[in-house]
Amino acid sequence: MDSMILSKEKMKDFVAALGQQKLYAPQKEGETLRFSLLGEEDVPELDFSNTTVPPKDVVFPQTETLYQYELGGTDMKEPEGGEEGAVMGIRPCDARAMSIVDSLFSWDVDDPYYLERRSGNTFIGLACLEPCVNCFCTSLGGAPASTEGLDALMTDLEDKYLVKPLTEKGEKLFQKAADVLEKATEEDVASAEKLHEEAAAKVARNVDTQGIPEKLPELWEADLWKDVSNSCLGCGICTYLCPTCHCFDIQDEVEGFEGRRCRMWDSCMFGEYTLHASGHNPRPSRRERTRNRINHKYSYYVDKFGTIACVGCGRCIDFCPVNIDILNILTQVKEAL
Ligand code: SF4
Ligand code: SF4
Repeated sequence: MDSMILSKEKMKDFVAALGQQKLYAPQKEGETLRFSLLGEEDVPELDFSNTTVPPKDVVFPQTETLYQYELGGTDMKEPEGGEEGAVMGIRPCDARAMSIVDSLFSWDVDDPYYLERRSGNTFIGLACLEPCVNCFCTSLGGAPASTEGLDALMTDLEDKYLVKPLTEKGEKLFQKAADVLEKATEEDVASAEKLHEEAAAKVARNVDTQGIPEKLPELWEADLWKDVSNSCLGCGICTYLCPTCHCFDIQDEVEGFEGRRCRMWDSCMFGEYTLHASGHNPRPSRRERTRNRINHKYSYYVDKFGTIACVGCGRCIDFCPVNIDILNILTQVKEAL
């Protein structure tokens, strides 16, 4: 399918043409912009820099029920399988993050909850034309118009979007709405390409990641971990809002004779994360926890899956309440030894 044009005026018709399909898009919840299921009358609001919460919670909800049970019984009631849906307005860095996290959820055992949502949804990206102040995607193999992990990419051309289907799933979705789309001209495609190049040149922050994965193990006892973690509050924001962070806890909740096993996001920045039942904690202070956060992304994940588990979205810098900056940490790693 060639590139198409979706007029902004026809967004409502486009959503209607998708029928009963679930559609997630960025929506405001107070000051927080996050992906939520659109209601019948809603239209996607696609005028934003990046969402506060990445779209990871569409495929990996902050809390989800794995199954329900009755005390004394042996039956497990699993949640109904997910319907097909689409996620619209994903920034390319967040789509790359999903590709990176796929390796984890399909590694030693397939995680059916995550994988079903990944295969059941169609992921429609929105190219970044004005990168945020702390973005550094280009240092990590990404770009403001990267297509990795996406089924289609949209580019804002002021009063319309250029839509480029990238996979069969993407084509199928836009074919449903063929009546409200128009054929793109060569000028439309050229305008989008120019905007993509200009956006890549606007990514202001960067780090040379060459050598960091090899160097980190040598810096295990370095003083820098104490220095960079001194002001950390252990709030976990940097991990909750990170599109590649994927740690979870599993707990049983019981009320009367009914129970449910659920999983919820966890964070290696929390003191209890590695607390043993004996009371021993192998990561007793902020120093060890910060060291783990950086090593996990820039060393362990590289060893295990061959890629750095950071896409340079900048959220951990933007939202850290005490201004801890991962780029400053990485620069210190580069300069150490
Ligand atoms: S957001 Fe900042 S203060 Fe909070 S845990 Fe992360 S590094 Fe520490
Ligand atoms: S570590 Fe920070 S910059 Fe990297 S993907 Fe996570 S939130 Fe974004």
